[in-house]
Amino acid sequence: MKRVLQDLSFEGLQELCAESGEPKFRADQLYKGLMRGRRISEIPGVPKPFRARLLETFEDEPVRIREVLTAADGTEKYLFELADGNIVEGVLMSYKYGRTQCVSTQVGCRMNCAFCASGLGGLVRDLSAGEILAQVLAVNARAGGTPEKRAVTNLVLMGSGEPFDNYGNTVRFLRLVTAEGGICISPRNISLSTCGLVPRMLDFAEEGIPVNLTVSLHSPSDEERARIMPVARAYKIADILRACDRYFERTGRRYIFEYSLIAGENADRAHAEQLVSLLRGRPCHVNLIRLNEVKEKSLAGVSEKEAYRFLGVLEKGGLSATLRRQIGADIGGACGQLRASRLGGNQPPEE
Ligand code: SAH
Repeated sequence: MKRVLQDLSFEGLQELCAESGEPKFRADQLYKGLMRGRRISEIPGVPKPFRARLLETFEDEPVRIREVLTAADGTEKYLFELADGNIVEGVLMSYKYGRTQCVSTQVGCRMNCAFCASGLGGLVRDLSAGEILAQVLAVNARAGGTPEKRAVTNLVLMGSGEPFDNYGNTVRFLRLVTAEGGICISPRNISLSTCGLVPRMLDFAEEGIPVNLTVSLHSPSDEERARIMPVARAYKIADILRACDRYFERTGRRYIFEYSLIAGENADRAHAEQLVSLLRGRPCHVNLIRLNEVKEKSLAGVSEKEAYRFLGVLEKGGLSATLRRQIGADIGGACGQLRASRLGGNQPPEE
């Protein structure tokens, strides 16, 4: 595979152009083009010989939109093809305040959570910072946006992969996507979700990137958590909470817990009460999600009524909590479902 031009910051492009004996404005030209989601071969004004040299070293289109599925509620599911033929997924959700894109940080995932489709084939490879960025640039352009007038206003790092298992590239991506002069999405509009890799959470607190740090908790007890999330054997909830507090100290940002309700595993009243004792008084928010059932897994979700009952216990206990509305379920909205269905013989996702 060739290199990815989107891996370079504006300063990196300036160096590249200087080394190639190109005038200064060439870097502006390239950067503007890339930020508009253009391929190298489409960026206007680049002289033929330099363009040809660039294309010898860099992928013309490192991330290509291969397929878009639109759900009844307007949610769009993207299938991206990378230069080496690997596939990752993305989702674009429309809300009153704007549009949120869900991006992937790895092809596959090695965390192997019991409910998640992304881990089905293990980790294939990390995405580079530019490959993560190119997903955003491609979708923003397709949705009619520019860097000046963005169509994608918010990001969640909740596609396939564990962002902190690809730490360096994820942090570099965050610097690129928030850079002034680029697509410049505010860190406050970005949520990074981790399964709780404590050492990387502590490192991240020192990076000075005040995104919304989100942790997949899914259980108030270490023992039960380890049944659905193997990573819980390595990192205890108490250590996760300490790392979250550190993040709050350093950034002033409250943190968020994801809690996917799974029948018979983590969704009883006792779990809700335990969650209240664990989190009461902390600067945090709990996002409840009804499990998106994955056909390769035997776990089941709870009814809407049960989910609201769980929410009620949290609220009564003084926690800030919401139940996420389910969107895009008819297009395989949950992590890794669409890719899994495409790898398994090109069948459309099941309704
Ligand atoms: N690796 C990161 C990002 C994963 S995806 C992490 O673990 O946080 C974002 C969220 O969706 C996580 O909270 C994940 O646990 C959850 N999730 C994955 N598959 C799901 C499913 N089938 N139903 C409901 N939530 C799911």
